[in-house]
Amino acid sequence: MAEFKTVRGMRDFLPAEAKLLRNVESKARSVAKLYGYKEIVTPIVESYDLLSAKAGEEVKSRMFLFKDLGGRDVALRPEFTASVARLVATTLRNEPRPFRLFSVGTIYRYDEPQRGRYREIWQTNYELMGSSRPEADAEILLLTNSFMQAVGLKKFAFKVGHIGVLKGVFAQEQLVENVQSAVMQLMDKKQYEDAFKLLESAGVSEKCMSTLRELVKLKGSDVKGIIDRIADLVKDYEKSVESAKNLSEILNLVVKSKCNIDLTVDAGFARGLEYYTGAIIEVYVPDLDVALAGGGRYDRLIELFGGDPTPAMGIAHGVDRIMLALQEQKRAQNLPQGLNEEKKVLVIPINQDLSGEALHISQMLVNAGVPTELEIMGRKMTKALEDANRRNMSYAVIIGERELKDGNVIVRDLVQRVQTKVKVEDVAEAVRN
Ligand code: AMP
Repeated sequence: MAEFKTVRGMRDFLPAEAKLLRNVESKARSVAKLYGYKEIVTPIVESYDLLSAKAGEEVKSRMFLFKDLGGRDVALRPEFTASVARLVATTLRNEPRPFRLFSVGTIYRYDEPQRGRYREIWQTNYELMGSSRPEADAEILLLTNSFMQAVGLKKFAFKVGHIGVLKGVFAQEQLVENVQSAVMQLMDKKQYEDAFKLLESAGVSEKCMSTLRELVKLKGSDVKGIIDRIADLVKDYEKSVESAKNLSEILNLVVKSKCNIDLTVDAGFARGLEYYTGAIIEVYVPDLDVALAGGGRYDRLIELFGGDPTPAMGIAHGVDRIMLALQEQKRAQNLPQGLNEEKKVLVIPINQDLSGEALHISQMLVNAGVPTELEIMGRKMTKALEDANRRNMSYAVIIGERELKDGNVIVRDLVQRVQTKVKVEDVAEAVRN
């Protein structure tokens, strides 16, 4: 039979990686709790209609799409936002606002696998729905900053833009929606020349072209300076000016939070998902050229799904890439990558006749909260101790007939290489100290 492999783009997490994954997840959960985000769990399989409604061509073309046995067109979710918006448009419709909702899990995209790019993707996702105020945008950014700090990332930076600046120009040029989206997708991939060609063939004005060519050059960490220049450049496009003002309000709040965030404003920044209407954010680290997180404001999505008009802002953090960045960071500092073993005990019966007693004592230890393994390979004492040492265990509890008759076992400290006789009822205490 052929050797089985994981499906292309899917991966296994072995213990060290699984531990890191769960650690990042638990940090995300703590941040959610600190900021008041309640966890929800939504299905991985959703209707294709829901997922494709406003995702944009790029995401749509990469969905894992199939018919279920009932003939329904369904897909594996390529993101969380559509599911959360569905809930807010339906089940949660009459609940008081704002909603602060948190999710963690896998999403699926048929991306071309490479370093930092997979087809099964772990994300932690935060959605803040019900407020159009800049404080909400600032909260999502600050929450992401807290999360990146909590997982232990050292050098990370935010790229921030506003989809309304570009959209304002497009709208005044009366550019049709699907061309707008196609241009945004190209800009998202930094294919600016292709985007300009498309705009030219759509017949936009000379002035629009020159404004856009100048706009995409505007980026930098002088937040006020860059936003002022954006506002000046788009001064004849009313909606774009409003958007620049909105971005300025958001970033002023972020600066006033005194969190010392590394920010770059980028006027030509666009994101692939079609539903964005306002500020957009991504997070980067120097070692990786792909984003660790991405999000933005989407004020129309919930009403598009049949709900009440509900402005919203959200972000998804890419856990796989955060893990990669953390592993890089450790490597650069020469820190070990492996599992940090906690104190562990191996219970070894001197002979097979004592298996029952050994099981009894390992149960006592487990019930006392001590991580304990039983020697189950039928190994002789020296082999069993060798194996315990190889696996960096802390103690061996040796069960011998003679000691047991007096109600004792032998506790061997595998680090200090000393052993003592201990009363059975005191074993847990002995291995804890
Ligand atoms: P997006 O909304 O597309 O920007 O996705 C949010 C985050 O998910 C990105 O910033 C990445 O960290 C992560 N992500 C998206 N696609 C992939 C992928 N194919 N492989 C790994 N991570 C991904």
